[in-house]
Amino acid sequence: MSAVLPTGSALVPPRAATGDAAAIPALDPIPAPAAQPVAPAASTPVRPAAAAGDAGVTDTLTPPLPRFAQIEPIGRCNLACRMCTVNDRGDEVAELPFERFVELIDQMPTLQELHLQGLGEPMLHPRFFDMVELAAARGIRVSANTNLTLLTESRARRCVTSGLAALSVSLDGASAGVYESIRLKASFAKVLRNLDRLVAARRQAGSALHIRGVMVLMRHNLAELLALIELLHRHGVPELLVQRLSSDLTQPDLPRRYIPIRDYVAHAELSDADLPQAAQVFEQSRALARRLGLKLCLPKLQPAAAASERGASIGSIGAMASPAAAPLAATASAAAPPAAPASAAAPAVAASGSSPASSPTRPAGPRCTWPWDQLYLTAAGELLPCCMVATADRASFGKVFAQAAGQGASPPAAAQAASPLAAPGAASSPAAAQASTGLLDRWHGSTAQAFRQALGTDQPPAVCRSCALYHGTF
Ligand code: SF4
Repeated sequence: MSAVLPTGSALVPPRAATGDAAAIPALDPIPAPAAQPVAPAASTPVRPAAAAGDAGVTDTLTPPLPRFAQIEPIGRCNLACRMCTVNDRGDEVAELPFERFVELIDQMPTLQELHLQGLGEPMLHPRFFDMVELAAARGIRVSANTNLTLLTESRARRCVTSGLAALSVSLDGASAGVYESIRLKASFAKVLRNLDRLVAARRQAGSALHIRGVMVLMRHNLAELLALIELLHRHGVPELLVQRLSSDLTQPDLPRRYIPIRDYVAHAELSDADLPQAAQVFEQSRALARRLGLKLCLPKLQPAAAASERGASIGSIGAMASPAAAPLAATASAAAPPAAPASAAAPAVAASGSSPASSPTRPAGPRCTWPWDQLYLTAAGELLPCCMVATADRASFGKVFAQAAGQGASPPAAAQAASPLAAPGAASSPAAAQASTGLLDRWHGSTAQAFRQALGTDQPPAVCRSCALYHGTF
């Protein structure tokens, strides 16, 4: 999943280095790709710092609109990164009109942070920087991710004059061979040129723009982590966020068009056999980053915490049950049945929101609080449960825009109507799903409530069962 960081806070804080390890042997090469068209740069899921007063937010199925939102300006990309779904999800022509963007911002008066990217390359949108300026002028902290392939001198200047607070640059390798084998259609040399252009613009403007590198860690680029730290340091970038693949896409109802990406992910994700070597690389990386003064955020290699460590009412995104305690370990997720609609097994959820905390089957707290405290909108206007879903045909709370006259139901809307997440009382047809407009309506809609309810039980939505956040390894 293409993904990344608005707030500057990382999902996993860097840990202190414990010393250099021995030289790292090269990993076995990944088998040649299956010659399938696959999608571009996964966006970096973003996680705002927990805000005071959020404790207990998961006690309701109808939380207030969050203070953090992630909005895609555009649903397409100029690259074709092999682990990204954006070019396959059926709405790749979607471009969020500027006027729609203003409407959305108007509907979120308490918004404090905006990540203006999800899937897709935001600099493809002709008014991307106008969006940044509008939000920043309202006091909203704005961040974005980019593959940096489209950074002209003019765009570099706007990066440092528009009010953009942070820009994450996707770099999945330290050599052209590795980088270009992942980020298809990209030129490593051009990206490095553009990185220098961006850093120079920041320096010349005396700008406080925070620039960070983001690496999606896989088997075939693990050996380049050390070199990437050195490269970023040489180019004046002070931080590297390393993330693992966001999902193994093993949910049973995965739309067929994503199967090539799922197969690539299966080859690319670190296996158990790779973890000792990865741990060694991590130790060396921490030592190197510390010596260079570069901030390094590394993912977990093993699931994080036991279920008993989860909070009673709000779960840390990084927290999860141990594999032994978790009935939905990644290896079992493919065989697990889709989640039953939560409201089919639980008391009906009132529109005003009943507290799932009263359910006797509810565990200590949801493993993930994304659907409560963060909001994700695609360029086509689909309100998704989180950034990790990334495609509306895997899970959606519905469209927030009215459908234009004469348009048929979009594939995502049609998929939603048949989704196992659809709860009794939820919009039950594509037409009904399209009829409702408004962000708050969808945020509090019965589909959203059913999703939250299920996530708080031991029968989470199918899409969560294959999610790295759910398993605590992102
Ligand atoms: S656990 Fe579910 S809601 Fe949370 S990030 Fe993963 S897919 Fe999204």
